Amino acid sequence: MTILVTGGAGFIGSNFVHHWLDHTNEKIVNLDKLTYAGNLKNLNHVRRHNNYVFVRGDISDIDLVSRLFREHQPRAVVNFAAETHVDRSINEPKVFIQTNVTGTFHLLECAKIYWSSLSKSEQQAFRFLQVSTDEVYGSLSEGSAPFSENSRYEPNSPYSATKASSDHLIRAYHQTYGFPVLTTHCTNNYGPYQFPEKLIPLIICNAITHKVLPIYGDGLQIRDWLYVSDHCSAIRLILENGKIGETYNIGGLNQLTNKDVVLKLCDILDGLKPLQNRGRSSYRELIQFVEDRPGHDKRYGINPKKIEEELGWRPIETFDTGILKTVTWYLDNKEWVEQVKSGEYRWKPKELIK
Ligand code: NAD
Repeated sequence: MTILVTGGAGFIGSNFVHHWLDHTNEKIVNLDKLTYAGNLKNLNHVRRHNNYVFVRGDISDIDLVSRLFREHQPRAVVNFAAETHVDRSINEPKVFIQTNVTGTFHLLECAKIYWSSLSKSEQQAFRFLQVSTDEVYGSLSEGSAPFSENSRYEPNSPYSATKASSDHLIRAYHQTYGFPVLTTHCTNNYGPYQFPEKLIPLIICNAITHKVLPIYGDGLQIRDWLYVSDHCSAIRLILENGKIGETYNIGGLNQLTNKDVVLKLCDILDGLKPLQNRGRSSYRELIQFVEDRPGHDKRYGINPKKIEEELGWRPIETFDTGILKTVTWYLDNKEWVEQVKSGEYRWKPKELIK
């Protein structure tokens, strides 16, 4: 048996590839375009694994995607591929439409055509899992209950609007064609291999090079944090036991302000890698509040009751255990950090490699 994942060279996708190979004996084919966010160094440990196949390509490429379905005959698709950084979506929304909407549509259409060609029992076993985000629900006001699967869609950024659009396509393919879909909405992830443009790795990487630690606005935006391996285990469980056509919210019940996250990171680093002879006694002194992002959502929070009660999922890591693991990983993987910062990790066509 085989599954096809897309975007498996990114942060969550590469953690999922590792998780899959550690927990199953099933082949995993990883289709990734290797944008700036895709990094094959995230997959160094598995690149020669017998059950792992990497294909560089775009989910929008109908010929390539159709060929992959014919050749590998996957029993499931997990779609991680997306443009994901909210700031980039504000500056350059077009590429978000291309990948998150048009790309997902092309992938979905190819998957549906392949699924239609399967026998009845193969069709019943097939799944298409769309990895979406809690950001499609917009922003929670202070004191209101966390988002449930029935919350209204109110996306506020071009990123979340494109993710919301693809969610609607996924739903429509189930309603119209009976195509077997599953959708997940997860809160903010953190952990190894996250590109240092996102808050937690940015702060760690800046701190260890004694750069400013920027916090948007007053830093009181609240996010609900989940350690990435807990997200991976939730996806695997939903793929196996989730009910077709359903959506599942995945959250860590760890609502913290951005400022508190940064302060915690500083305190951990003060313990693990104290600043020496730099005229400062704590990383906290590097914090700087900077102009807020336009349309910045104030609060996200997910109610994970459905996945807990129906599928028995629980996160293993608390924020304290997960964040310590994360800081330790970045400190132990300086080479990875250096290659990301220098751009050396970027994929190059063979003819350009000297
Ligand atoms: P990421 O930006 O780290 O990785 C995205 C990956 O997709 C990269 O490897 C990139 O090369 C690939 N990709 C981009 N466009 C592609 C295309 N057209 N064809 C094939 N591959 C393409 O993203 P991430 O943080 O790992 O997020 C993965 C998924 O999880 C996304 O769909 C995102 O919306 C969702 N999500 C992320 C979070 C989070 O906190 N990071 C939370 C909830 C949901």
